[in-house]
Amino acid sequence: HDRSVKYKRILLKLSGEALMGEHDFGIDPKVLDRMAQEVGQLIGIGVQVGLVIGGGNLFRGAALHEAGMDRVTGDHMGMLATVMNGLAMRDALERAGIRSRVMSAIPMSGVVEHYDRRTAIRYLTASDVVIFSAGTGNPFFTTDSAACLRGIEIDADVVIKATKVDGVYDKDPVKHADAVKYDSLSYDAVLDQKLGVMDLTAICLVRDHNMPVRVFDMTKPGALLNLVTGGKEGTVIE
Ligand code: UDP
Repeated sequence: HDRSVKYKRILLKLSGEALMGEHDFGIDPKVLDRMAQEVGQLIGIGVQVGLVIGGGNLFRGAALHEAGMDRVTGDHMGMLATVMNGLAMRDALERAGIRSRVMSAIPMSGVVEHYDRRTAIRYLTASDVVIFSAGTGNPFFTTDSAACLRGIEIDADVVIKATKVDGVYDKDPVKHADAVKYDSLSYDAVLDQKLGVMDLTAICLVRDHNMPVRVFDMTKPGALLNLVTGGKEGTVIE
């Protein structure tokens, strides 16, 4: 199978919102199971998969802050939310027969392992899915930045951002019928045109380390496998 694999080691970023499915809070186990299937297909063809999951389906520091809470406390809650999502994803993966590990940037002895880069790489090499949770471990960052950071650290071939739209557009395709999709973009174009694919910290990080980013539609069954085996999906930023 290996011949058809374009990216041997990937860092896949799933937003917390993607886990909600049709709900407006929390986790939809059906969505989780579908994602586990898609990730399992990659493992099946020998791709090494690191995952970063957001926490926006549960808590976001910035939103809690707007409602009056201390920002750093809110961000801590947001990071804990990503650990909960990570546990749920591990559960779905293991039920589908896919070995997986959750690592946390914040030590949480007895629940998940503390993040350690070399251990993570060992797990990946052994075809275990590694879920990097608790973001970067620091307030004022996002899980997009965590995905780029971990992707660079584990020497992934690509950071893949799963979204609900099939790539990056010049304006919001949900609001504008004439929005145009980009097949490819430079890091500087994303920054200059303020395209809002990821926050600035994340884009600057991948730009400084020449890490390619793919943005694609995770709601489309089979799109992830197609992307990883060289198919044309979404937008490439490099
Ligand atoms: N967060 C943080 N530091 C990080 C990553 C995340 O403080 O390195 C917090 C932050 O409050 C954020 C929340 O965790 O709002 C959930 O992450 P994010 O908003 O990136 O999730 P997503 O939008 O991908 O669901």
